Amino acid sequence: MSNDTRYQLFIDGRWLDGSDRSTLPVINPATEKVFAWVASATASDLDEALASAERSRKAWSSRPAKERGEILLAAARILEAKVGTAARDLSAEQGKTIAEATGEYARAVETLEWNGIHAEELSAPIQLGPNRMIAPEALGVVAAFTPWNYPAVLIARKIAPALAAGCPVILKGAEETPSAAVHIVEVLSQAGIPDGVVNLVFGLPVQISRHLLSSPIVKVLTFTGSTEVGKQLARLAANNLQRCILELGGHSPVVLCEDADLANAIPAISEYKFECAGQSCNAPSRILVARPLYEEFLSRMTEAARKIKIGPPDDPSTKMGPMANARRIEAMQRLIEDAVDRGARIETGGTRLDQPGFYWPPTILTGVPKDAKLLHDEPFGPILTVAPFDTIEEAIEEANATDYGLAAYFFTGASDAQRALICGLSAGALSVNFLKGVSADAPYGGVKQSGYGYEGGEQGFRSFQNLKLVNGFASFG
Ligand code: NAD
Repeated sequence: MSNDTRYQLFIDGRWLDGSDRSTLPVINPATEKVFAWVASATASDLDEALASAERSRKAWSSRPAKERGEILLAAARILEAKVGTAARDLSAEQGKTIAEATGEYARAVETLEWNGIHAEELSAPIQLGPNRMIAPEALGVVAAFTPWNYPAVLIARKIAPALAAGCPVILKGAEETPSAAVHIVEVLSQAGIPDGVVNLVFGLPVQISRHLLSSPIVKVLTFTGSTEVGKQLARLAANNLQRCILELGGHSPVVLCEDADLANAIPAISEYKFECAGQSCNAPSRILVARPLYEEFLSRMTEAARKIKIGPPDDPSTKMGPMANARRIEAMQRLIEDAVDRGARIETGGTRLDQPGFYWPPTILTGVPKDAKLLHDEPFGPILTVAPFDTIEEAIEEANATDYGLAAYFFTGASDAQRALICGLSAGALSVNFLKGVSADAPYGGVKQSGYGYEGGEQGFRSFQNLKLVNGFASFG
């Protein structure tokens, strides 16, 4: 990719610049230098996207679901063949290592496949009794707004079920990481998606979301990003009562009970926490350790964090690349400064690396007081807090003591502790004795300020359907 790379919009089956030719810069987080440009949509471009999506709607929703699924499966095969190039582009603009970017694309392929395979079955009528059924139908045009941390798999999780269910999509890719959106839309187009069924726009997020959500053409909003922006979008969507799927922030706890196997837990936490430089909504951020294990855990976890090799994301020996943008570096500084001012202790890391690029080392803090911002604001970076607990009830109370409820993890083999934690933790997803995130076949969503609605699996697919109840029909089919 050269400095001249210019990513375009895709509207009504054509790649275009914005109608006023304006562009936004794309920065390489490892160098802080502009290395590409992305077209910025105007209001008239957005109107074109709305009109083309609406024009394509009837034909796409009435096309046999099997055929819609086949297009997704063909797109999965084409994407699989270009993962090498796509992963290098993603790594350069996002900062994640090539291995991480490759793994992310593998999950995007899997998501296209899962929805392709299940399109027919999940679009079929559901018989409730001899004269009653649910006749699922596509809800209509979807506005999908996706972020920069996992731009490939998060796009796939939104648009694959929408398309499989029969909904046209207007995708706003993340302006900071446009290549993933461009590659995925390109493969869908190559796989034969009809003109207008997928439109891709970039631009000023506030203007785009206001414009699209003020149109009654849009029937569904699906967004991944911060809680604050999610609430703004839900307010806009309220005017037209667009259905919302909001996958927002997290501040996930890990509870290590007294019998936790540290030889298993520490590498698992380290691997999952520092992937994508900690910029995952479900990355663990608060570790609660049974007091008898606390000192040993802290010393071994600190040692593991110090050993992580930080460097350019395209160097195969790098384990953790830079953060995605300057805003994250400022947020790390702000959260750590506040915690230290209130009495927290830095065990490792704690300051930006003194070199070009948005590099922040794995950081562990202890003694963080309960009123520190770090225990309440989503850190979204490579920072962990570690604290001891004495009883399982105390661990559950501490684990639940944020406004978020996305993911939670715990390590114990004891069935009574497992039961207490499964029942007591407020989260959309739990993992026991390992850390696992989203997968194509299962629903994933948050509670509390982490959002509502589901992505993934059957529940994620049905988010794009009207489950039309039909009572008393004589025969069907
Ligand atoms: P942000 O909330 O401004 O932006 C997050 C994403 O939402 C970006 O991709 C942005 O382009 C998009 N966005 C912002 N305003 C929008 C709008 N009005 N309409 C449509 N899209 C809009 O914050 P940021 O600085 O980019 O990211 C920082 C925070 O965002 C983090 O602290 C984290 O909480 C959250 N975030 C969460 C996820 C997630 O996976 N849940 C992903 C990225 C960011």
